[in-house]
Order: sequence, then C-alpha cells, then structure tokens
Amino acid sequence: MRDATKIIRATLTQAVAGEALHEGPVFAAPFHSPGDPVDAAYSYARSHNPTWTALEKAIGQMESGPGYRASALVFASGMAACTAVFGAVLRPGDVVVLPSNAYFAARVLVQEYFVQMGVTLRTAPTAGGAQAGLLEGAKLLWIESPSNPTMEVCDIAALCERAHEAGALVALDNTTATALGQLPLALGADFSVASDAKSMTGHSDLMVGHVAVRDMELMAKIDQWRTLTGGIVGPMEAWLALRSLATLPLRLERSSQNALRIAEFLTARREVSGVLYPGLPSDPGHAIAARQMKYFGAVLSFTLRDKVAAETFLSKAKLVTEATSFGGVTTTAERRARWGSDAVHEGFIRMSAGCEAVEDLIEDIEQALEATV
Ligand SMILES: *Cc1c(COP(=O)(O)O)cnc(C)c1O
Repeated sequence: MRDATKIIRATLTQAVAGEALHEGPVFAAPFHSPGDPVDAAYSYARSHNPTWTALEKAIGQMESGPGYRASALVFASGMAACTAVFGAVLRPGDVVVLPSNAYFAARVLVQEYFVQMGVTLRTAPTAGGAQAGLLEGAKLLWIESPSNPTMEVCDIAALCERAHEAGALVALDNTTATALGQLPLALGADFSVASDAKSMTGHSDLMVGHVAVRDMELMAKIDQWRTLTGGIVGPMEAWLALRSLATLPLRLERSSQNALRIAEFLTARREVSGVLYPGLPSDPGHAIAARQMKYFGAVLSFTLRDKVAAETFLSKAKLVTEATSFGGVTTTAERRARWGSDAVHEGFIRMSAGCEAVEDLIEDIEQALEATV
C-alpha cells in the first residue's frame, strides 16, 4: 500500500455496523474498573485513554517500515516527547551527543537540567555528520535532520551505524520532516521523536508530540516516564491530531512543492542571500536528503541585508503571516534572530511554506522584497 492510502486508512475505526468511521474524543479521568485493575483496558487517564490509543495506532503505522512494526506514545508537546527520551535513557555519568544547532529548547533542557545532574554533553554541527567524531563512550546520540531553523542535513543511516558500533542509542528529532517525509526507525534510529504541533497536524491550533520505537523494552521505559511525569495530551487535542493526520499526504506534498518553488525564486533575487532548502539541487545537504527523504518539507530559510530589511519584508508581505513555528497550511515566517536563541544573521528569515496557490505567494514575496531596497 502507498503512503497516502496507508495513512488515511490508519485513521479509521474497524468497520462495525452502526459505529462511527472515526474515533471521537473520550473525556475521562477514571474509567469503570471493578476488581483486579489489570483486567480493565483503561483505568485512569494519566496512564491511557482510548483517544490516545487511536492516535498511537495511526502514528505507529506511519512510523512502521519494511520488516518492522513501530509503536508510538503521544505526549502533551514535542518537548514532553524529547524530555521522555532524555529522562528514560540518561543517568549520571552518561554522555549525550547533541547537534550544536539542535532545537534550542532541547539544548537548554540538557544543559540546564541533565548536565547539572551529572550527564556529560558533547556537541557538533548537524552538517557533515560531525557528531560521528564524538561517539566514544556515549549513551545517547541525538540527531536533528533536517535541523531547525537552518535545515542542515546529515547521513542518518551512517550516523546510526557509527553510534551503534560505539554502543550508543540513537534518537532522531524528525519534526521538520514528519514520518511521511522520512522514516527514522527504518534509517536505524532507536527513537523517532517529533513535535506534532508542526507539519504532522498542520493547522497551527494544537500542541502534541510523540515518541516511536521498535523495541518493546524502550517502549516500556518511555511509557513509564509518561505515566510518572504526567506530560500527557488531552483527549480533545489527541482527537484533533488524529483528524489532521489524514490530510498530511496532501499538505506535505503541496507545502514541499511550494517551498521548493519559493526557494528557487529567492535564489534568483539580488535582495536575498543564503537560501537554504534541502530540496534545492544546489543545497549542500541535497544529495543525502534525496536519499533518505521522500519529501523535503515545508521549511526554508534565507537571509536579507540586515534587521531592517527583514522586518520590512515581513511587514510588507501580506500572504506571509508573521509567526513562529512551522508546518501549517498557512505560509508563515519570522526573523529568527529576534529570539536570541540561534546563531543566525540579523536578517535571517525562517519561512514555512503553506498550501496556498504558489503563484500568489511568489507575487506577494516579490513585492515585499522590492520594498526592502
Ligand atoms: C518545535 C520543535 C520541538 C518542540 O516541540 P513543541 O511541540 O514546541 O514542544 C522540538 N524539536 C524541533 C525540531 C522543533 O521544531
């Protein structure tokens, strides 16, 4: 079965006469559970909820690949999912290898909590697979490819092989690509981690994240972490996420096409430098990305002359909504240096291509660029 069919079918209930085609949200704290609690499928909603089960079944099918079946656990946000992997794996004395350009909250979390509790942090850039040089004695390799916000790419399968030789587990933050764009577990990662607030659900209206694994022992550790720490997603969000997954194939295909068209357009403009998008044949990560990704995703970035030029561009562009985050049906962009969290130029813009008609987007981007000179 092809991906689009697989994903859409994964969101359906079993065909039982008179039942709804899709799960609705189940609002519960306790469930009826007389007698021995192991006999009840559901007992208390910090541990499990039927709406999560439906979403986890769908994500698990998306994360499955040739020769293996994945299991997924959903969380209240991408960071709750990242924290579950760090928390379930890392102990004092362990070494964790992070990309130096990793998503800033993941970097700060490790630095300000795990390092304070006796974990050693090593960092190297995503680009060029530089993390491979830091694996000796490591417990966990954390990869982000393509990375947010500069869309750097590394050879995931090669890094996983090196990490496993060194005895380390591997987690891949797959937020920018989604499990439709790139399959972390098939490439060798032990954990596929994502913020599903971005392209996975794509409507800019909910927070959710997930961890997927092949190994049931790792699954049990992540599950225990979730139940003990309580970073759980509400049934309403889980239901909205499940509803949104069915359109992922349409959304990702369109937004990836739009991102490429915009990146090509920007490359030819004199107001713009440093266009970064792994779908561009000229991008340093293109050859590797083309091998390991099915879609290059919605996110691209580029640099304008300075802060003023970037702010002028954002205020003049009418079809580019100024907002953080990415992966929604609406085209958005922001001047990334305004946060002070990434090592980027003052005129650096991260853009997320939406699903609008690309001709409209390009016309609008053109007039906004002209206003910057
Ligand atoms: C947004 C993001 C996260 C964190 O996800 P939240 O849902 O915001 O908690 C982690 N990694 C990457 C690459 C992200 O873009």
